[in-house]
Amino acid sequence: MTTIEKITALCKSRGFVFPGSEIYGGLANTWDFGPLGAELKENIKREWWKFFVQQNPTSVGLDGGILMNSAVWKASGHVDGFNDPLIDCKSCKTRHRADHLIEKHSKGKVSADFKPNEWLEKWIDDNKVKCPTCGKTDWTKIRQFNLMFKTNRGVVEGQEDTVYLRPETAQNQFVNFTNVQRSMRMKIPFGIGQVGKAFRNEITPGNFIFRTIEFEQMEHQQFCHAKDAKKFYEDYKKLAWEFNTKVLGINEKNLRFKDHETLCHYAKMACDIDYNFSFGWGELAGTHHRSEFDLTQHINHSKKSLEYTDPVTNEKFVPTVIESSQGLNRSVLVCLHDAYHEEKVDDDTRVVLKLHPRIAPYKVAVLPLQKKEQGEQAYELCRELSKHFACTYDDTASIGKRYRRQDEIGTPFCITVDFDSVKGKSVTIRHRDTMKQERIKTKEIESYVKLHIL
Ligand code: ATP
Repeated sequence: MTTIEKITALCKSRGFVFPGSEIYGGLANTWDFGPLGAELKENIKREWWKFFVQQNPTSVGLDGGILMNSAVWKASGHVDGFNDPLIDCKSCKTRHRADHLIEKHSKGKVSADFKPNEWLEKWIDDNKVKCPTCGKTDWTKIRQFNLMFKTNRGVVEGQEDTVYLRPETAQNQFVNFTNVQRSMRMKIPFGIGQVGKAFRNEITPGNFIFRTIEFEQMEHQQFCHAKDAKKFYEDYKKLAWEFNTKVLGINEKNLRFKDHETLCHYAKMACDIDYNFSFGWGELAGTHHRSEFDLTQHINHSKKSLEYTDPVTNEKFVPTVIESSQGLNRSVLVCLHDAYHEEKVDDDTRVVLKLHPRIAPYKVAVLPLQKKEQGEQAYELCRELSKHFACTYDDTASIGKRYRRQDEIGTPFCITVDFDSVKGKSVTIRHRDTMKQERIKTKEIESYVKLHIL
């Protein structure tokens, strides 16, 4: 089994992620977050919000709607240009993304981003790219496929208006630029952060939760003067790296910066952070210099002014945008992938998720050595500690098995209530990664754990 297959199995058996609509045979590229996945996702989201919004005095947050006036998506270019180049295998009738086939065939050496269909078709033909499903080289022509989900609005039949499920969260920040700037009396440079759902009609295999049709994005748009854009671009590249390595605790050996070789029409510079998954390098986050494109498009289409006047120089200008964008679901996958370890312990193999304590679903598991003797006291302790951080209680099976269970779900500390605890008001605390145990006073547990999850 590959690491991703092992993680998928663990996620299902331990309550992190379940296949979507499973009892009805599922729905391709949809997944549900179970109790532990929901905690992990929430923790990552909260850390992102703290890092990009709350700890930045010149940033504020926004929670915009999923449904927006369709004119937004016309102006942004998504109605006409948010397409994937799809190609069908005539032999086995499977459908693939032409750019992905090329990237895979060239082992990542050739970038097929934003290349015309003729270029893609010729490359596939010249290099005799085989269908990954049946191995034949019998391809159709490429067709462009719009990724936006459409739905209808309106109560009178026949008079519905098409509305789209947003394919990215960023447009909320752009159309609200003036609302936020004026209501919050923001001065440029300033940023708007947002976390929310986005939807894309992805048809290619998803690699578990790497590519799904419904996902959350964490996006921060920095509005600045064009002359400062390069500096902010470099700053936000560094911040994205710091967030992933220092805050989420991802091993930097598994990350790399990757500049875009070909840029989309509005971008001046773009650089991804990729993660080294067991199925190859894949994009986790991106920093994009979006120029004045977005606000200019909305000015032209809405006929409203989204310009900014500098209060000191009186210069009137359309701000430039530096975007920092990271997928939340992909971040969950990266954290799980990076944390997944198998270790030999005596004659056994233990599976341990070495998640940073800050994002682990439970910080502490409280375990009575014997349910009959210390069960009540341990349960009370768990309730008390739950007021401060997420805790779980377990009194089934041997203590060794219970430790292993907590290792598998990444709980950094196990607290065992034993005979001495009842008398002496102290407990044993076991560290997940080292498996070392030490004795601490019951009243010190709270501060001890808080120190480690900061
Ligand atoms: P990809 O090349 O993988 O399709 P993208 O370049 O289209 O991604 P962006 O539009 O820059 O991605 O979106 C920003 C972030 O949102 C990505 O870095 C990724 O983490 C996340 N993301 C994009 N598409 C998906 C998806 N279908 N499922 C899960 N996360 C996604």
